[in-house]
Amino acid sequence: MSASESGHPEGVGGRHVADGPHDPEHDPRASYVLEPEYVAALTDRIVSTTGRTVPVSSPLDEAPLANIPQSSEEDVAEAFRRARVAQAAWARTSLEERSAALLRLHDLVLDRTPEILDLITLESGKARKHAYDEAAHVALTARYYARTGHKHLDTQRRSGVIPVLTRVDHNRIPKGVVGIISPWNYPLTMAISDGLPALMAGNAVVTKPDAQTMLTALLGAQLIEEAGFPRDLWVVVAGPGRELGTPIIERSDYICFTGSTATGKIIARQCAERLIGCSLELGGKNPILVLRDADVELAAEGAVRASFSNAGQLCVSTERMFVADQVYDRFVERFVARTKAMTLGATLDWEVDMGTLISKDQLDTAVAHVEDAVAKGATVLAGGRARPDLAPYFFEPTILEGVTPEMTCFGNETFGPVVSVYRFHDEADAIARANEGEYGLNGSIYSRDGDRARAIAKHIKCGTVNINEGFASAFGSIDSPMGGMRESGMGRRQGSEGIHRYTESQTVATQRLLKIAPNFGMKAETHAKLMTLSLRALKKLGRA
Ligand code: NAD
Repeated sequence: MSASESGHPEGVGGRHVADGPHDPEHDPRASYVLEPEYVAALTDRIVSTTGRTVPVSSPLDEAPLANIPQSSEEDVAEAFRRARVAQAAWARTSLEERSAALLRLHDLVLDRTPEILDLITLESGKARKHAYDEAAHVALTARYYARTGHKHLDTQRRSGVIPVLTRVDHNRIPKGVVGIISPWNYPLTMAISDGLPALMAGNAVVTKPDAQTMLTALLGAQLIEEAGFPRDLWVVVAGPGRELGTPIIERSDYICFTGSTATGKIIARQCAERLIGCSLELGGKNPILVLRDADVELAAEGAVRASFSNAGQLCVSTERMFVADQVYDRFVERFVARTKAMTLGATLDWEVDMGTLISKDQLDTAVAHVEDAVAKGATVLAGGRARPDLAPYFFEPTILEGVTPEMTCFGNETFGPVVSVYRFHDEADAIARANEGEYGLNGSIYSRDGDRARAIAKHIKCGTVNINEGFASAFGSIDSPMGGMRESGMGRRQGSEGIHRYTESQTVATQRLLKIAPNFGMKAETHAKLMTLSLRALKKLGRA
């Protein structure tokens, strides 16, 4: 049966086929195969001369998907050579030209969603609706930077040391070639979106996506070229991070990394050695506070999305819920009921509420965290079991109660569909507990009193805080920065910070008429006195 028969008429361009019967009622596992020409068109983009390949298979059913060519250190060097040539020409293009390409990318991504969603789901196992979030996020990011390029990048006039006589221009110069190292959990948007402001600012990109989700990242690269960006402006290498990370960092002018805190620290050290900047988007153990005046039904619905989107394999997903005593029982009853009603599945269909974990490693962590918690006295309110009947690495959406600090999942990121609920009596105590630990990525507050919730947000040590939503309001609002405090990261994506990180600030000061020194044979002491007088006058005039 072909993809077009399985309800996705334009999926993977109609180029993948299922080699087994797809009847979710009797056999919820479908077996999908990508056509070799489709795979080759993608993998040909990888700079690779090693002749080595690594097989990847789908977490839906462990069926092989592709053999991914691997890059060597020399291939990384070649990737940077190409990118540097392309960047030199790209830096001379107008903002209008770059913006037009970003807007074409926006349209292409929306036009090609059936194909994109098929590929993301095949490669990552996530629910189709969560794959859609990725396409939407790329489109939002492309449109935002296309429309705001001038605001962020135009030369700005600044005040000069001598008003009127010193003209100061603040330029934004592209860094050059940006290295992007991305994870597997949101394989399209994590591989692509951070690079769009880099292109808008006049940079080239060399990217190393995670080995498990190369095909989606390569489709993103293909769409970028189709949108009109020169092919060598976005160059892809493939291989293990611990082998290719150093050669990439050694050649980059800036590193954008998304992944675990442990790897982020390694990358930060290497960037420090070279004195290049980096942004690090890392892990989290994200809290939700449900205050006593919360809309309980809204909070329960939001908690399901916040905890189980992409089966919890989301940097900003919720793993800890602190619920006010007054609404605790009602909230837990609704949250558990909604969780138990979720449609679980490992198919390409829209009806699936939660898909599978991506790998055995991810499944092992979820199992270990839940088994450890239960052995130490926690109660499973929902889920708690692996579901090999659905897919090899499937784990149920799981709610735990009675989690204590000795349990692994108390402070460690599960990065899976496991959330703990805690009762609180006092808001100050809830805020302190939400702020425990080393992370500080995303928080959320449910309350009917927006002003009070926003005031509380300032005390939550997280880079984004959502009110009456789990994570999507902040993450989707591209005009404002997103990133982590403490061990959740350094630097920010999105907003002006998300593009300025890819530029060097340059100040050009033009001096007219008077020197910044004694003029007309004036003595140094007299000049100093005049300076003091003018400094006092400028303060009186209210100048900055
Ligand atoms: P990871 O750090 O193991 O891998 C991420 C990327 O880094 C991969 O491409 C990998 O190949 C590469 N890598 C691994 N070792 C490297 C090294 N020594 N040098 C250079 N590159 C190296 O992370 P993961 O487990 O794949 O991803 C999950 C983690 O990412 C979670 O902790 C999650 O919270 C975090 N994450 C954060 C965000 C965010 O925006 N803050 C988004 C997504 C994921």
